[in-house]
Amino acid sequence: MFFNNIIGQSVVKEKLMLSVQHNRVSHAQLFLGPEGNGSLALALAYAQFINCEKKLENDSCGKCSSCIKAQKMIHPDIHFSFPVFKLKTGSENPALSSDFSKQWREAVVANPYQNLNDWLEFISSDNKQGNISAEECRVMIHKLSLNTYESKHKVMIIWLAEYLRKEGNILLKLLEEPPANTLLILIAENREQVLNTILSRCQIIAIPRIDDNDLLDDLMMKHNLNLEAANKILRQSQGNYREALRLIVNTEEDEPEILKRWMRLLIDKKSSVELVKWVEEISRAGREKQKQFLRYTLEFIRECIVMHYSGEAISNLYDEEKKMAAYLLQRLKTEEWKIIDERIEQSHYHIERNASPKILFMNLSLQIQNIISAKKLSLAS
Ligand SMILES: [Zn+2]
Repeated sequence: MFFNNIIGQSVVKEKLMLSVQHNRVSHAQLFLGPEGNGSLALALAYAQFINCEKKLENDSCGKCSSCIKAQKMIHPDIHFSFPVFKLKTGSENPALSSDFSKQWREAVVANPYQNLNDWLEFISSDNKQGNISAEECRVMIHKLSLNTYESKHKVMIIWLAEYLRKEGNILLKLLEEPPANTLLILIAENREQVLNTILSRCQIIAIPRIDDNDLLDDLMMKHNLNLEAANKILRQSQGNYREALRLIVNTEEDEPEILKRWMRLLIDKKSSVELVKWVEEISRAGREKQKQFLRYTLEFIRECIVMHYSGEAISNLYDEEKKMAAYLLQRLKTEEWKIIDERIEQSHYHIERNASPKILFMNLSLQIQNIISAKKLSLAS
């Protein structure tokens, strides 16, 4: 992984490269930031850079034997630990990362922005929980106690340190006094879930949300999206690149059209038959698409509220959406938007937890219709 392949994060990249160039690499670092920001990608680029034999000013060379192995994720001095589960339930053997190294390479090369669910789904179709076991911690200590095979630095990347749980205490001595030329890079998304004993022994490197302009550039240049489509994904993904990649795959469906039809049916109340038809269509669409539609609707409503307060000028909506927003803003007040926003948020929560989509979308439709008719009633009285 080259630093150059990572989207945005120029400040972090520079900080990491300078630490190597000035020989000030902290031996235990915790990359902390939410999913989709690129922490794992940064750790990979850092590990490659630190062992590169012909470093360039702004990146590793990509040509030396160390870089070639690092890029294929087969470098003998770059180790990985990550959440896994027992291969066979009831088996005596603890779950070790090394049981899954082939799948790990495949998954990370395909998408270094993966989250834990992606990874666990990749290695199993069941709903298994992953963790980093006590035995895995002991294996890490052992691996790092050996001499390096070919490079100057041994690197251990621990992906999702939250899953060390209390077993993480086994690593405390290693974090305090690692063998010479050892670099431990821990990656975590939730600070509260990492042991305090670990936090206090690491240098914390905050990995912020990817800059909007950097993400927009990537979506347009690398994924050939036009400005409108890229902006839409930017808004929905909230800077989470993993989410953006998922949305790109699902761009064929047209949420603005579905939403427009729905809102008109709700507001004009012309035909309950048409509304039932709409509910049946969205119920057939599959859970991921339903969630995506609800998220799109939430984003849209929030933009409508912004537009209501600030006028069209600073709206992130594109032309077709602005027309729809104007149509709706004439008919609904801000307080009503807020209630609808809450109802949709709750529906998203329930869809994720396997609620029946048909009942859920019908209920939601009726609730929104009630909000709208209550308003008409109060205007009339
Ligand atoms: Zn190199």
